[in-house]
Amino acid sequence: MTYKSTRDSNLKITSAEAIARGISAEGGLFLPEEIPTITLEEIKEFSALPYSARATKIFKKFLTDFTDEEIEMCTKNAYSTKNFETENITEIAKLDNKYLLELWHGKTCAFKDMALQILPYLLVVSAKKLNISKEIVILVATSGDTGKAALEGFKDIKGTRIIVFYPEDGVSPMQKKQMITQYGDNVLVCAVKGNFDDCQNGVKAIFADKDTETALSTLNCQLSSANSINWGRLAPQIIYYISAYADLIEKGEIADGEKINIVVPTGNFGNILAAYYAKKMGLPINKLICASNKNKILTDFLSTGVYDCNREFYTTSSPSMDILISSNLERLLYLLSDDESIKNWFDQLKKTGKYQVNSDVLNKLQEEFYGGFCDDKETQDTIKSVFKEYNYLADTHTAVGIKVYDDYVSKTDDKTKTLIASTANPYKFSQAVLQALGGNISADEFTQIEEIENISNLTIPKSLADLKEKSPIYKDIISKDDMKNYVLNYIKSSK
Ligand SMILES: *Cc1c(COP(=O)(O)O)cnc(C)c1O
Repeated sequence: MTYKSTRDSNLKITSAEAIARGISAEGGLFLPEEIPTITLEEIKEFSALPYSARATKIFKKFLTDFTDEEIEMCTKNAYSTKNFETENITEIAKLDNKYLLELWHGKTCAFKDMALQILPYLLVVSAKKLNISKEIVILVATSGDTGKAALEGFKDIKGTRIIVFYPEDGVSPMQKKQMITQYGDNVLVCAVKGNFDDCQNGVKAIFADKDTETALSTLNCQLSSANSINWGRLAPQIIYYISAYADLIEKGEIADGEKINIVVPTGNFGNILAAYYAKKMGLPINKLICASNKNKILTDFLSTGVYDCNREFYTTSSPSMDILISSNLERLLYLLSDDESIKNWFDQLKKTGKYQVNSDVLNKLQEEFYGGFCDDKETQDTIKSVFKEYNYLADTHTAVGIKVYDDYVSKTDDKTKTLIASTANPYKFSQAVLQALGGNISADEFTQIEEIENISNLTIPKSLADLKEKSPIYKDIISKDDMKNYVLNYIKSSK
């Protein structure tokens, strides 16, 4: 199977190249030329397999230039109890007709671990296959969770270096502490004066800059990405939707082939796009429900077909979704149209901050997706009511998903059984969670999480509790225009 770009359908590269490069030279995103299929029989066979073997089966369909041994090496190393606190890797919690797919049992307590534990292995294998001898420099823009998960995945991986940029005031205190205390000889973490979009635009601009590429090349380095613009981030996320479906059949919760809805709290559109790919592969999915916080650009887009960034940016209690430019939407729109349209729309987006898709594309979008949003107050009320009713503690992002789903049901009366992606451990967003529980807010993050533990009886993950004793290593704060020089200076000084 070859890969092409959303802005160049004629491109033909291997999956190893797509993963090693991260983003296409003309600015487009890589994607497979066709979507492989999976049968219900194959899905049902998953129930006898551990997660890593399920992952192997899916990767074989997408990474056809990898050998079986290479894929197995990657999946076995990534999806083990060394990296995840449960044998099953993911868990499903049942709250009446809702199934919460807990994707946060990895080291950094957010769903990003599901892809970022395996990406370094995929990347190292890809580089080897392509005879790349240069050091691979991973640039990451993060709204909080990707940064830490990428640092954990890439720390001390030979032949790689990783630089993470996060918005100075745009991440939770726990997310910040996780990142700035990261050990590893090949890592660097830096705050940017701006929001996530500034970080993401800065990173994309460095990728597109030919002078930087040349300068890095003379230093024997080349860039790659660990954001969900990298196909190596997307592919691993398809697996858990299929795996969860197999688990629901196995547990007798759904019948063979029964359609389910999937709800995804969405920011960069990566996680929900993975669910869409699962559907196109053949997973029986009815509606894909795209849940946003007060930054509801996707809700508006799905109802009007107009993507308009000319609006206020809000900092919310679900910071990993505080995004106005959802990169992976480009892949979805390409699948529903063609490369010429993509170039057109994204040109307009660059020039005017806005584009409008035609009615044909809008109709196709609305057939597959429902979009909704809620604000911080509703998020908090949802955490509170879910805890009261089910003794289940949801994080702020997951709560957005639950609320949007409840609204969807009231509006449509759709009784389809529904899987909601639960994307983070509530301890990562202690202030909002504690407020929802009616506990005492304190200036100290660790006093707060202990208070949550007292109220909820949910154990604080060790990786978060351990942060209390760790001192910050990284203190740099730079302006968004200095990101390029910052990268170059660091690479020069590391040589
Ligand atoms: C990254 C993240 C999201 C959004 O996922 P996208 O793939 O960017 O849409 C939602 N919740 C949490 C906790 C996250 O870390």
